Amino acid sequence: MSEIAAQLAAVTSRIAVAASAAGRDPGAVTLVAVSKTHPMEAVAEALAAGQRVFGENRVQEAKAKFPELKSRYPDLRLHLIGPLQTNKVRDAVALVDVIETIDRPKLARVVADEIQRAGRKVDVMVQVNIGREPQKAGALPEHTEALLSLCRKDYALSVAGLMCIPPAEGDPMPYFRALADLALRHGLDQISMGMSGDYEAAIACGATHVRVGSAIFGSRPYP
Ligand SMILES: *Cc1c(COP(=O)(O)O)cnc(C)c1O
Repeated sequence: MSEIAAQLAAVTSRIAVAASAAGRDPGAVTLVAVSKTHPMEAVAEALAAGQRVFGENRVQEAKAKFPELKSRYPDLRLHLIGPLQTNKVRDAVALVDVIETIDRPKLARVVADEIQRAGRKVDVMVQVNIGREPQKAGALPEHTEALLSLCRKDYALSVAGLMCIPPAEGDPMPYFRALADLALRHGLDQISMGMSGDYEAAIACGATHVRVGSAIFGSRPYP
């Protein structure tokens, strides 16, 4: 077994244990394997081991790695999990299946227009700046309702859920609970939260999607 396959198996089994401990169905948690900075060969190893859902945070990098893999594995699903500039929307919509980082009205509109134009089915999530950190992307919690309404009613986007990256320091659980609560209040069933260091805590708080990179692919030269 390759090292990536072994690490993938370990993460998958820890997800199942965390879900069971929380009284949840392990099948209700989707592992998004975050392959940013790692080469196509690493993604191919994970695919060979059965992983099908991946996350990338840069459109250009995703474009360099995924088109060929997607043609080899038609059931591969790619999530964009990094900040999206409006000038990259066309490339993003052409390639990814889920954009997790809708965080402002202008971006929502450009994405909606491009989905219409391209005729592709792309789901979106609204990213919430759950810790209200000035340096971080995401809609503030108090702006989330208005942004969701705009996405759903005015732009007819397929909004699947909410995503967050909690503050790096301290206990993430209050933030995870706050995001889950916000999703519940807005009738959204997908909640993307939890990374290599805290995905089990996120599952305990209701995560349906955990975004795990380094625990599967190894460490990266940059975050
Ligand atoms: C890089 C990244 C991850 C994965 O981080 P790890 O700590 O390597 O698991 C998850 N979510 C986002 C938004 C990221 O940019």
